[in-house]
Amino acid sequence: MARYHPGTMIPSRILLLALLSALACAQSPTAGEVDGVYRDAYGLYLELHQNPELSAHETQTAAKLAARLRGLGYDVTEHVGGTGIVALLKNGAGPTIMLRTELDALPVEEKTGLAYASKVRAKDDAGREVPVMHACGHDLHMASLVGTAAIMAHSKQTWHGTLMLVGQPAEETISGAKTMIADGLFTRFPKPDAGVALHVSNLLPAGQVGIAPGTYNSNADSLRVTIYGKGGHGASPQTTIDPIVIAARTILALQTIASREVKPGEMAVVTVGYIHAGTKNNIIPDEAEMGLTVRSYKQDVRKQVLAAIARMVKAEAEAAGAPREPSVEHYESTDSVYNDPALAQRLRVPLEAAVGQENVITMEPIAPSEDYAYFVEQGIPSLYFSLGGADPAKFAEARASGTALPSNHSPLFAPDVEPALRTGIAAEAAVLRNLLQGT
Ligand SMILES: [Zn+2]
Ligand SMILES: [Zn+2]
Repeated sequence: MARYHPGTMIPSRILLLALLSALACAQSPTAGEVDGVYRDAYGLYLELHQNPELSAHETQTAAKLAARLRGLGYDVTEHVGGTGIVALLKNGAGPTIMLRTELDALPVEEKTGLAYASKVRAKDDAGREVPVMHACGHDLHMASLVGTAAIMAHSKQTWHGTLMLVGQPAEETISGAKTMIADGLFTRFPKPDAGVALHVSNLLPAGQVGIAPGTYNSNADSLRVTIYGKGGHGASPQTTIDPIVIAARTILALQTIASREVKPGEMAVVTVGYIHAGTKNNIIPDEAEMGLTVRSYKQDVRKQVLAAIARMVKAEAEAAGAPREPSVEHYESTDSVYNDPALAQRLRVPLEAAVGQENVITMEPIAPSEDYAYFVEQGIPSLYFSLGGADPAKFAEARASGTALPSNHSPLFAPDVEPALRTGIAAEAAVLRNLLQGT
């Protein structure tokens, strides 16, 4: 049994911490290094923000990233799993460390009023013309990755190993990580010893980063529910079975899953994000379609919620005398991203050195989901951390008044770019140098 010697333990622990923080400071990019790459990174941000592309259609975006990374000396492979890119910088013996960004934007009409707001419209996969906006901040992630890539390429004496930068398509449809893995991401290229990614949001003010050791975010399940009725004249409802009314009752019933069936305190979200039915005010349609997103942290809660949805959808249709059982299609799902606790603890040190101890916040898991989980499932211990995006003054104001700033995916989402992008670059470079055994 080891004996506890307070007299010797404390000084040696202090010495160890001092050594670790001195090492972390040496690994932190200097203000000059960040300044040196910032202008280009900001220019890329504006360019990407004004030219967003929908999931799996990120051809111009990927080409822009590939060209810049090639210019920095990276060995770039394009068209990995569709529009994905992999950029390698080999720098002697050592671990392989992955830094990943998403490439895609969303079908959202930008209403930020910014001078560089997106005016882009494009055809979606169903052939409909939709507005397109980087409403999730992936443009900022890409700009940060390219800024970090430049710092790493210009300071090869500070690290050794292989840096693997991944530009992943189609994160918003939870499909790009899978298609990249299926296309040999970890067989045609070196399999990383660890992975890092970040996500900007208004949950923290710009200048800060957040770490959630363990569970970072939620399990996500996407469901398409089709309710079948019997169509007819809007003036003769007695000759029909109205699927819109069944859908309305179903939507209200679904609200009771989180409020009445799941144990209080457990995380569960059931959102009906769209309902499509009918063509004209005086026609009762044959069917109604609804799109649901379901979120949870725990596997048993996830199972309980999905079973409750299936039960309620079926029972409401039966109660209305529907001619057919509704269909419930489970068309997308992803597990929660798990942050390796030891890695999270290790990387807190370089993060604190890079952005200031007071600016590294320990966070609770968040509700939005991510297909980065598929990389973790391949056996890659990872840290997925949060990057503050909110204007610090607006953040403080919102907190004082109890209001919420626009969330990711809002037409009003507009990160405070300068501090957020600088912080993203400094944080990524510090973490990569630590993992690549920099001195
Ligand atoms: Zn998103
Ligand atoms: Zn996102």
